[in-house]
Order: sequence, then structure tokens, then C-alpha cells
Amino acid sequence: MIYHRVALIGLGLIASSMAHAMRQYRLAGTIVGHAQSAETRAIARELFCDEVFATPAEAVKGADLVVLCTPVGAMAEIARAIAPHLAPGATVTDVGSVKGAVVEAVAPHMPEGVHFIPGHPIAGTEHSGPRSGFATLFQNRWWLLTPLEGADPAATARLRALCEGMGANVDEMDVAHHDLVLAVTSHTPHLIAYTMVGVAEHMRRVSNSEVIKYSAGGFRDLTRIAASDPVMWRDVFLTNKDAVLDILGRFTEELFVLQRAIRMGDGEHLHAYFTRTRAIRRGIIEAGQDTSAPDFGRIAPPGEGKG
Ligand code: NAP
Repeated sequence: MIYHRVALIGLGLIASSMAHAMRQYRLAGTIVGHAQSAETRAIARELFCDEVFATPAEAVKGADLVVLCTPVGAMAEIARAIAPHLAPGATVTDVGSVKGAVVEAVAPHMPEGVHFIPGHPIAGTEHSGPRSGFATLFQNRWWLLTPLEGADPAATARLRALCEGMGANVDEMDVAHHDLVLAVTSHTPHLIAYTMVGVAEHMRRVSNSEVIKYSAGGFRDLTRIAASDPVMWRDVFLTNKDAVLDILGRFTEELFVLQRAIRMGDGEHLHAYFTRTRAIRRGIIEAGQDTSAPDFGRIAPPGEGKG
């Protein structure tokens, strides 16, 4: 057992997956939680929490680990509410997809003697809510920790052990670097998926049913990404603004270059470009971050072809 009492604040996909994993691998003694709605709290109590509380302040009492698992935009208010109730020596971490904004929102509220160690599991699905979690979500996925200057090495090592116990590989990095890397690997791709699905929706010449009926793998994968939780993703773009705008600027420049190559019939350019990008895909598979199956291991619904 790594922590005696873990308090999960926010009880959706990530929190429920953590609870299932901590239970399965016996990493935590007691798991308690808080979410804003009574409905979510009731489901969590039934499925994975030993106790749930109506306020975050009550939930964190006596916990040696507190994990903020709400959308990033809610974390400042929660940090303010829990601060006076945190146990001395407790560790507070979070799972937010953006780190700079979380540090700004949470760190100023943390009392002396409490270890605040921000984190981000690079694992998820397009599903959300307390019923969507599963114990193996973090298996062989990265969990990035972004300890702040002067962070206690023992507290960081203990949190690392928890993440590794849930099956994750842990890396430590600087907050700003995290936000730039994630803008490239996750945030901007999500924005592109949202945009492409939006474009298809606005195409009046292709009726909705045709878009769905003939959707090839590429578009289907984009719709899966574009089904991700609207609150979470709104907060990601509002809080990682600078890095996302930087990457979007670069993306737009590349898009213009490709657009020009298509207009000029420059097949050589297109071929060389796609050859380079294909090598990146191979690198991801070799690093064990995806499978080489054409559908990435997902099973197509009956009757649905692969494009
Ligand atoms: P989720 O399934 O939508 O769950 C969010 C939970 O937060 C819900 O239980 C919700 O309660 C609760 N909540 C929202 N506002 C709250 C507030 N003000 N006070 C208390 N509880 C509140 O979200 P998730 O996918 O687990 O994501 C949670 C965090 O993990 C986000 O910060 C996200 O950036 C990060 N993350 C997500 C993924 C992913 O792929 N999903 C991956 C890595 C990191 P109710 O149900 O009662 O509304």
C-alpha cells in the first residue's frame, strides 16, 4: 500500500480509472471522493469509492493523497476550498491536461507542509463520467509529473510509485515544456478533429447520412476524437492558449504549403512529405504507444467498412 487514504475530487473517467487501478493493485487503503452532482457521487459510492462527501473540504480531511480530477477550470475554486482542511504532510496532485494554468490556480492556495506535485496521465478515451473508468487505462501509458522548484524528493518518489503501480511509465518535466509538447501531441490534433467534423457538418451538398454512411477510417477516427468531453476541452484551449496558438500558427503555414503543392500538382513534394510523416507513425508503434492494426485494435460495428 502506498497511500492510506486517497481523496479523489471529481469522479469521472480519470478518477474512476484510478480508483479501480488502486484497488486492483492494492495501492491505497481507503478511497474517498467528491463530485459536484449527487448523482455522480451515488454512482461512485456504488462502484469505486468507500465514502463520498458533498463538499471537497470534507473529502480531503485525513487524506495523505488528494487528486484533483475535475476539469482544469474548476481547480482554483477547489484548491481554495480544500486548503484549510488538508492534513499536514499530505500530497496534492492533479490530472489536468494543462499544467501551467493548474499551477497558477492551485499553488498559491497550498499551505506550508503540503506537497503539491502536478501531474498528467497521457491516457484517456472519448467517454466520460463515473461509469467510464477501468483499471487498465494507464497500462503502458505515460504519466508526466511536473514537480515545482524545491519539491520534496520523497513525496515525488511516493507519487511516482503510485503511478507506476497503476501500470504507467513516469517522466518528469518542466511545466512550460509539458504544455508545449501536449499542444503538439494532443491539444492541436483535437482542435483539428473538431474542425474537420464541423466542416463535414456544414457541407450542405453532402447530407449528414452520407457523411456517416461513407465515412472512411480517417473521418471516423476524427469523429471519435471530436466526441471528447466539451467542458474538458473548452478548458484545455482556454488555459493552454499560448502554446496552442503557437502550434496552430505552424500548422496553418504547413497547410498552406501542402495546399500550394496540390494546386501546382507537385506530387514529389506530397510524396516526400507523406513519407516523412509515415516514419513518425512507425516510431509511435515502435515506442509501444499504439498498435499497427489498421483499426488500432478497435472493432468496427457490423456492416461498417474500413476506408
Ligand atoms: P469527466 O469524466 O468529465 O469527469 C469530471 C468530473 O469532475 C465529474 O465527476 C464532475 O462531476 C466533476 N466536476 C466538475 N466540476 C466540478 C466542480 N466544480 N466540483 C467538483 N467536481 C466537479 O472528466 P475526465 O475525463 O475524468 O477528466 C478529468 C481531468 O482529467 C480533466 O482535468 C482533464 O483535463 C484530465 N484528463 C483527461 C483525459 C481524458 O482523456 N479524458 C486524459 C488525461 C487527463 P459531475 O459528474 O457531478 O458533474
